[in-house]
Amino acid sequence: MRVATTASRLKPLPQGRSYGREFRADCLDPSAATGSRLKPLLHGRARKSAGRMFLWGLAASCALAVGITSAAGVPFPSEVPQGSLVIGKVAPGSEVRYAGRSLRVSAEGDVVFGVGRDERGPVSVSVREPGRAAALRSIIVTPREWPAERVVGVPPKTVEPPPAVAERIRREQARVSVARSRDDARADFAPPFIWPAKGRISGRFGNHRVYVVEGRDVPRPPHSGMDIAVAEGTPVKAPAAGIVSFADADLYLTGGTVLVDHGHGVSSNFLHLSRIDVKVGQRVRQGEVIGAVGKTGRATGPHLHWGLNWFDVRLDPLLLPGIRE
Ligand SMILES: [Zn+2]
Repeated sequence: MRVATTASRLKPLPQGRSYGREFRADCLDPSAATGSRLKPLLHGRARKSAGRMFLWGLAASCALAVGITSAAGVPFPSEVPQGSLVIGKVAPGSEVRYAGRSLRVSAEGDVVFGVGRDERGPVSVSVREPGRAAALRSIIVTPREWPAERVVGVPPKTVEPPPAVAERIRREQARVSVARSRDDARADFAPPFIWPAKGRISGRFGNHRVYVVEGRDVPRPPHSGMDIAVAEGTPVKAPAAGIVSFADADLYLTGGTVLVDHGHGVSSNFLHLSRIDVKVGQRVRQGEVIGAVGKTGRATGPHLHWGLNWFDVRLDPLLLPGIRE
């Protein structure tokens, strides 16, 4: 009960620490925790109840972290919303497994995985610290609501591509998939992210998409990232450091497309660009300009589409440490 009653007067956490670090700090000083940190994560009715659940989860997590840190040390959150990148901190040299995959652990103990949009959970992470038995950590996945977005005005040929270009689209998507399969040792995802461009959010991750083509509603897969409405030519900055893993000025659906790999399978993608300023293999610093906003590919007007992946799992950039609405 104590956590619930203190929630309303709690101050925001400093953004941008990894979950593992944040949770450690929260445990030391519960007054630093807040439900407001959840605001950018959830929308509508889900926000309030999930906020409450999050705080309970936080309390449980702290209890567990305090209890377990001395025993095994498994600093992951106990609860995350669908579409979250989950960043944890384990003892260097630990073996960590999630979703059948052995996760890379940095020399500092940074470890990361993604919980997809449709994941219902609970999910579990196995952590085996050097010289200890494996400990299983169960994580509750908070469901979110996915409203429908009706999009009017995209070029019809990008919604229902002619059969002749299906092969081109398949080839292009295969190239992007290869770029996303990298598992580099860099932990560029660990510091807080920054916005690649600042503007109104005009499309949200995970929402159902219905394109209106010549008066007909054409349902398409959920929106894979976040759209930021900014003027054509606005510089696009790398939200975190990384290596450019893909750059092509003319993909059929996504137009000017750049992927920046942040390490450990985490990558950002930037679509519909009017200009690309980087080359594949190039190292970029956080904040470095990688191109300019455009409306190339399937777009109704100039905007930046920012997508986030953990390998092939699509995630919500709005849930990243450092990013809030
Ligand atoms: Zn988009």
